[in-house]
Amino acid sequence: MFIVPIWYAVSLFFVLGACVGSFYNVVIYRMPRGLSLIKPPSFCPTCKKQIPIYHNLPIVGWLFLRGKSACCRTRISIQYPLVELLCAVLGGLSVILAEWPLDFMASWTQIADTIALFWLLLAIVPVCAVDFKHHLIPDSISVGGIVVGLLVSFIPGGVVPQESLIGFLVAGVGLYGLGLLMTRLLKKEAMGFGDVKLLAGYGALMGWFYAFEVLIFAAFLGLLVMLPLKFFKKIKGSEAENTSFGEIPFGPFLSIMAPIVYLWGDEILKVYLSFIY
Ligand SMILES: [Zn+2]
Repeated sequence: MFIVPIWYAVSLFFVLGACVGSFYNVVIYRMPRGLSLIKPPSFCPTCKKQIPIYHNLPIVGWLFLRGKSACCRTRISIQYPLVELLCAVLGGLSVILAEWPLDFMASWTQIADTIALFWLLLAIVPVCAVDFKHHLIPDSISVGGIVVGLLVSFIPGGVVPQESLIGFLVAGVGLYGLGLLMTRLLKKEAMGFGDVKLLAGYGALMGWFYAFEVLIFAAFLGLLVMLPLKFFKKIKGSEAENTSFGEIPFGPFLSIMAPIVYLWGDEILKVYLSFIY
């Protein structure tokens, strides 16, 4: 038991979320350009000058500079503080969704849930930002998810370490096999290795069964969104001919379904099964 007021936990994870959002800005900018995430430290894209840490503070830095860089007064895209704010809000939300008790007596379960949800919710931002446009899933997110999943399993109350390891292996190997099979059938690359690593992380975080559920419902969601889009594109007669099933970015749908399944996996399954029987 821990005595942590909910307002304190929400503020803490809000600030943590803003900081992670600041890192995700780096991921979103550098990863498609093939740049290292660590070196060099933040620099101005216009004049290449290094940005001091106090100008680089999430959200407040941008507000303080009124959206213009201190070095050469170049406009800084509002995308930066917006990504940070979004991640901050998702961070605070992860405490509320983990049902942090109002009597302040948080248990290990709530702490494990908060960390898991924090990871799952914030990952949506970089995965959607990068995968939709560039068909890439950042390793810092997918491999990071595997590491977080395996580590969180050591916190008592949720998935135990054995389940986590099995979840990681089954989800990873399973999706990899499915990808190979579909590549054979469709005679073209059907599944990116990024998707495999992402789902392996979900397996580590919530066990193989829920990872499987994420996969199924993400495929549903993907078809629901992408089919009308493709149909619409065909009518317009654009490059729809060049897009194929294999080129649908799958990562965003996986990342959106993951926290939903983590929170309401059993309920969704019940509704789904009631349709079948
Ligand atoms: Zn500059």
